[in-house]
This record gives sequence, structure tokens and C-alpha cells, in this order.
Amino acid sequence: MTSRTMVKIDEELCNGCGLCISPCAEGALEIVDGKARVIKDELCDGAGFCIGVCPSGALSLENREAEAFSEQAVIIKREKDAEKGLKYIPQHCFSCNSSEEEKYLLPVKHKGEALWCCTRCLPQLIHG
Ligand code: SF4
Repeated sequence: MTSRTMVKIDEELCNGCGLCISPCAEGALEIVDGKARVIKDELCDGAGFCIGVCPSGALSLENREAEAFSEQAVIIKREKDAEKGLKYIPQHCFSCNSSEEEKYLLPVKHKGEALWCCTRCLPQLIHG
């Protein structure tokens, strides 16, 4: 165990929408009993890509004692997910509705709202 940055989930705020599952490339998050959970500490690298997409502010980062991040554990988890046929939920650009299967999407926040925006629409968002 070591002290490191981990994703923290506020269960009171989590509504179980599942939007945070897809951005986690390591497969660390799953919905269990209607709430997002870090299913194994060694799968969470603490990068926080999930945080920007949470519509209810349930996600944050914290420093706490946890198992060290393990790339090997991520590989094993992803292989198990593939065997189960688990797939990500494709997200869509809030502006043009393009799927992440067509374009690269980035998470953006505006007035408390978490949105996905494709790289084509992002410049217009930045420059108006
Ligand atoms: S995006 Fe936020 S509210 Fe939705 S499941 Fe994840 S933590 Fe819960």
C-alpha cells in the first residue's frame, strides 16, 4: 500500500447514470447496485478523466492509501471484459451529435454541466 491519488465517488450524489464508465480506459469503474464504484484500486491510475463527465459532481480526486496502479491488472481486466462481451457506451458530441466512433470527443464543462464535444466543434466553442 502507498499513498497516492485516487478517484473518489460520493455515493450520495451518484445517480448511477454510467457516463463515467466509458472515459476510464483502465476499466476501473463499474456500476454496482446502482452506484459507480472503483472495483479494484490497482485499476485506477488517478488521472481523473472520468471527473469531467459526471453531471452530478459525484467524482473528485483524493490522496489515500491504496494498492499501487498495475498495468498488468488493467490488461487482465480488459481481457475479462472482452470475454464477457462488455463494450463501452458510445458518447455523442453535444453540438453536432457525432458519435465517438466517428470523431474524437473531449469532455468539457460549462456552467456546471458536463458535456462531450468533438474536435471539429471545439474550435467554434473556443472562438465563438
Ligand atoms: S457519471 Fe457521476 S453520477 Fe453518473 S454513474 Fe458516474 S459517478 Fe455516478
